[in-house]
Amino acid sequence: MEVFKFGGASVKNAEGVKNISQIIQYHSSHPLLIVVSAMGKTTDALERLTKAYFEGLGSVHEIFEDIKTYHFQIAHELFSDGTNPVFDDISNTFVEIDWILEDEPFNFDYIYDQIVSVGELVSTKIVSHYLNYTGIKSQWADARNYIQTDNTYREGKVDWNKTRHLAEAQLLPLVQQQIVVTQGFIGSTSENFTTTLGREGSDYSAAIFASCLQASAVTIWKDVPGVLNADPKWFDHTELIPQLSYHDAIELAYYGATVIHPKTIKPLQNNNIPLHVRSFLKPDAAGTTIGHTEKPLRVPSFIFKVNQVLISILPKDFSFIIEENLSQIFDILHQHRIKVNTMLNSALSFSISVDHDEEKITKLIAALSVTYKVKYNKGMELVTIRYYDQQTIGRVTENKKVLLEVRSRHTCQMVMKDNIQAFE
Ligand code: ASP
Ligand code: MG
Repeated sequence: MEVFKFGGASVKNAEGVKNISQIIQYHSSHPLLIVVSAMGKTTDALERLTKAYFEGLGSVHEIFEDIKTYHFQIAHELFSDGTNPVFDDISNTFVEIDWILEDEPFNFDYIYDQIVSVGELVSTKIVSHYLNYTGIKSQWADARNYIQTDNTYREGKVDWNKTRHLAEAQLLPLVQQQIVVTQGFIGSTSENFTTTLGREGSDYSAAIFASCLQASAVTIWKDVPGVLNADPKWFDHTELIPQLSYHDAIELAYYGATVIHPKTIKPLQNNNIPLHVRSFLKPDAAGTTIGHTEKPLRVPSFIFKVNQVLISILPKDFSFIIEENLSQIFDILHQHRIKVNTMLNSALSFSISVDHDEEKITKLIAALSVTYKVKYNKGMELVTIRYYDQQTIGRVTENKKVLLEVRSRHTCQMVMKDNIQAFE
């Protein structure tokens, strides 16, 4: 059994849906489970809708109408008969949002999940109907019947035992009959409320299904040729990595490589399931295979993060930073749901680089300032080089001022900013 995952970019318009149906027809084997995300930028739009609803903005209905129009337009391009059941199915799915909008807002994270999940529900309905329309027999399945989570809305934690049991007992028989199309990113609590697994969580869903169903492989179809050694947005010369170990894949995802969701690898590695990353634009190309390989990467890999804040935390009374302070600092970071991208400890200070989310950072600095002296620099860049050498370090730090550097045997991280003097 195989799992295919198609992200939002692959189904952003009617052409995209047609293209993925071709891929399913010519590049898959049976049995097959297909995981699809929301179309294009729908999740962002649904997030805007949720915020507008909470803030009581007049734009709520306009945003919602745009989302509906976008989906109906795609459906009209795909289905020439206006009587196809897909149209009713789309309307009925969006009605869920109408019901929510009629009530007064409460509990942001909970409502967020109920609204934002509709993006995946509607996209999978369109894809599933379209496959049948073109003669590829498939059935739609509701991922919430299988993926069970706790009630941490917006970041549901998977209950693996329940999920495995439901997938084996109820999903496997369906997949053995015919192609199943289901959603990424969403799950359900034991009280049947919808949860989401965190932004970009569909890769993770594909990995959960694959591990619970003992799939032979997962393929994530993307708009890049595979895993590259750097993001072409920041680097001119990038190379495709044909074979990648689970270990390196986890390291790269952890440091912020956006090509795969960080949580995706573990369930696959634990079950020894290979992960292929291939291009939906060039489906004949092999892409990257992530699996058990001892081979370290031949070329250095770069991960670049902009818009970083470098925060230095110092004791007010010149005492040492020791385990006790560190555990308190990490507690505060955890409470504010802040991910530390890199850190360095010295006797009198503890420095971290984190993404600049103004709201979160302001609250964090206020909380830390109760006990510590806090200094920070905004507008920093963080570069992580896996399998670094002096030459590559030289290249990325050219015209930069490095404010913090952390090296381990294989990985070097530097927080830096433009060296203004270099341009004078
Ligand atoms: N649609 C969700 C998002 O954009 C999940 C995903 O695409 O992986 O975050
Ligand atoms: Mg998406």
